[in-house]
Amino acid sequence: MFNNYQTIIDISLALNEQTIIYPGNSPVKIESFKSASGLTYLSNISLGTHTGTHIDAPRHINEVGVGVDKLDLTNLIGPCRVLDFTKSIESIKKEELEASNIQKGERILAKTQNSLRGFTTTYDDYIYLSAEGAKYLAELQISVFAIDYLSIKKRGSSDNRPHTEFLNVEIPIIEGVDLSKVEEGEYYLMALPLKLTGLDGSPIRAVLLK
Ligand SMILES: [Zn+2]
Repeated sequence: MFNNYQTIIDISLALNEQTIIYPGNSPVKIESFKSASGLTYLSNISLGTHTGTHIDAPRHINEVGVGVDKLDLTNLIGPCRVLDFTKSIESIKKEELEASNIQKGERILAKTQNSLRGFTTTYDDYIYLSAEGAKYLAELQISVFAIDYLSIKKRGSSDNRPHTEFLNVEIPIIEGVDLSKVEEGEYYLMALPLKLTGLDGSPIRAVLLK
């Protein structure tokens, strides 16, 4: 299945106490220590479900929505396309998506100016997905949508459609992918959540095979 791919591109953010956190979310806390026997090292970690590169499950917007443990993993493993939206201003618009000839079932990763700004500080004017764009992609029945910031929707906006259009129809969203070293094109995506029973989100290790 993977024999034809030569390289692995890691598009995950590193998780440590310096990892950027969306305003209001819990900070990462890590404590490493020696076991009682003194023979091994162990760590306790404390982090939010939407920390770093992570997945949003329907439970994120709906109390009875599907959790990350019940997501269809076929959405998260398979051929994908990275699309270059680095010219997008403020948000990714429906018209820009229409120009990309996206088909039903595609796994789509959006590279924007966010990747070029890097992942060392948070900021409010990140590029987000427009509500009309989310509706368009959900109606196309894509398999997954990934964006290169910690949120898919406009900072502070009460319009939650960038989440709801996807999650209402069980299309998972990936947030916080680092596409700074990835060019537009076709890849093979692997992005699996932890099997956290019934939870709204999970950090993931996301990679692209080329
Ligand atoms: Zn999230």
